[in-house]
Amino acid sequence: MARISRHRLADIEAMRPSGTFVADVLQELLDAATPGVNLLELDALAHERIDSAGATSCYIDYHPSFGARPFGKVLCTSVNDAALHGLPRDYTLREGDLLSVDFAVELGGWVADSARSTVVGHGQPEDHTLIAATEEALLAGIDQARPGARLGDIQAAIGRVASEYGYSVNTDFGGHGVGRTMHEEPSIPNDGEPGSGPLLKPGMVFAIEPWFMHSTDELVVDPDGWTLRSADGSRAAHSEHTVAITPAGPLVLTEHPARREVSPPHGSLGVGE
Ligand code: MG
Repeated sequence: MARISRHRLADIEAMRPSGTFVADVLQELLDAATPGVNLLELDALAHERIDSAGATSCYIDYHPSFGARPFGKVLCTSVNDAALHGLPRDYTLREGDLLSVDFAVELGGWVADSARSTVVGHGQPEDHTLIAATEEALLAGIDQARPGARLGDIQAAIGRVASEYGYSVNTDFGGHGVGRTMHEEPSIPNDGEPGSGPLLKPGMVFAIEPWFMHSTDELVVDPDGWTLRSADGSRAAHSEHTVAITPAGPLVLTEHPARREVSPPHGSLGVGE
């Protein structure tokens, strides 16, 4: 099994500016995502923030084996039936659109990665429920991100929430380790067996990211070569935080102060050697 990096206390402290920056920009983007706003405007706004902060986009040059070409944008904007990796395009948001924004940068040498979904204007109750399910699953997963638990406990907690809501889970894309780069060991599928997998230890840092589709677990690739859509056209939502495992429990590095979902431990994290 590939090694999962463990970071020292000083390094986790050094990740905070990156996490805070990602949280602040995501909040700004969601506030800006009103009817009449174009996805390219949101991408340009994020690009400006990256440049003025001296950060580096993790996406713009991203070119994994499954990508048709380098991504070329700094956000993933997935609208309605788009679930993941939505390539920003010339599309003007409309009342009732379900928008998921995924944003990852490196700042000060450390990566932070976070995603949020929102309904543009007034939407359908089932879309709000879908978003709430991903947020609840994210919190359930984060709650397992503590020393002594196993990776499968995070996965199972996410899968349990999906199942309670009646959503099936696609395990092809999920969470991952985060550190100097965006995608590190381990991979964290959004379902699994409790008590299975590697033991969680202080200093591990994970992006935990439940995403659910309303009525399918199958994806299809858009002609743009990037955007992954639900196979049945049903809508998708996505919630993600970058989380450090500390002796005191999970520390959510990308939590926005105005949306304090999890109380981070303060003072010494007691991590390191
Ligand atoms: Mg992400």
